[in-house]
Amino acid sequence: MSRVLVIAEHDGSILNGSTARAISCAKELGVDGIDIVVLAADGAAVADQAAAIAGVDKVVLVKNPANEHAVAALLAPQIQEIASDYSHVFAPSTTFGKDLLPRVAALLGVPQISDIMRVENATTFDRPIFAGNAVVTVEAAEGIVVGTVRTASYPVAENGGSASIEAREVSAELPAHTRYVSLATGGGEGRPDLQAAATVVSGGRGVGSEENFGVIYGLADKLGAAVGASRAAVDAGFIPNDHQVGQTGKIIAPDLYLAFGISGAIQHLAGIKDAGTIVAVNKDGDAPIFEIADFGLVGDLFEVIEELQKAL
Ligand SMILES: Cc1cc2nc3c(=O)[nH]c(=O)nc-3n(C[C@H](O)[C@H](O)[C@H](O)COP(=O)(O)OP(=O)(O)OC[C@H]3O[C@@H](n4cnc5c(N)ncnc54)[C@H](O)[C@@H]3O)c2cc1C
Repeated sequence: MSRVLVIAEHDGSILNGSTARAISCAKELGVDGIDIVVLAADGAAVADQAAAIAGVDKVVLVKNPANEHAVAALLAPQIQEIASDYSHVFAPSTTFGKDLLPRVAALLGVPQISDIMRVENATTFDRPIFAGNAVVTVEAAEGIVVGTVRTASYPVAENGGSASIEAREVSAELPAHTRYVSLATGGGEGRPDLQAAATVVSGGRGVGSEENFGVIYGLADKLGAAVGASRAAVDAGFIPNDHQVGQTGKIIAPDLYLAFGISGAIQHLAGIKDAGTIVAVNKDGDAPIFEIADFGLVGDLFEVIEELQKAL
């Protein structure tokens, strides 16, 4: 029997939307069942949210104080133990999944299929290469198929399900070499998750300084949006690198992407190819971002944001 186990991404109380995107991919496999595993210290609320996703058969809840924080070194052996009941183990291709799944694959002794963007059949998948400029079809090796799902390629699976929730004890020995110390984030507090947000306001080198990024945060807060950035803005120290969008940053698919002072280098565009509507503001009318923008405005970003703030 073939079943897929999708690893839930959560913060202890809220299920991240990336999990429901991975479920949309899992549905394309044509397997006999789709389960979600929630590894948490408590996890009851997260399990309830996971159980509500349509198409999910069962939520496996692994409660363990060691799971209070998502430490990949501790989660991986637990998933390895549960994985023996499954033909596939999937996780979203977010920072969480990219951190965790290679360890799971290594423990299971199989290669990982990264960034699945299309399912050809249960063992054959399409994934982007060369910053999304080419697509390669790969076939999984013998054994359990371990894969990360490119969340920008899949919609959030709808709610309406009522999966059963099953508590599971895991006896796997957890390593003592890695422990949680603290989590430091910059600029993301209280704002939507960049990879799950419907609207993203992003700034580039053209914003000019860390202080100037205040206008980007201000607009994002007015719109209830997440804040993104180009690599040049990150490298210049304007904003922490967990905001970077692009080939070596985050791949996102918001409904609306607002780019201020971003030229539109190919590596940046790789991160926003699946955005619904792209709006670009740049003082250079020849900036390449205008070639892919749905709406473009040639002008000074600070003047435009000031006008927008007045209008909102
Ligand atoms: C292997 C590799 C991986 C990379 N990965 C990434 C990645 O993941 N993400 C990424 O973003 N980049 C990535 N890059 C870097 C990428 O090539 C570009 O250097 C970078 O995206 C440029 O950022 P930018 O558009 O902010 O800066 P610039 O290219 O310097 O553009 C700044 C823009 O701001 C405009 N501007 C200036 N002042 C104003 C103003 N007042 N009002 C309006 N507009 C203004 C300018 O006209 C200009 O177009 C990568 C590069 C390599 C080689």
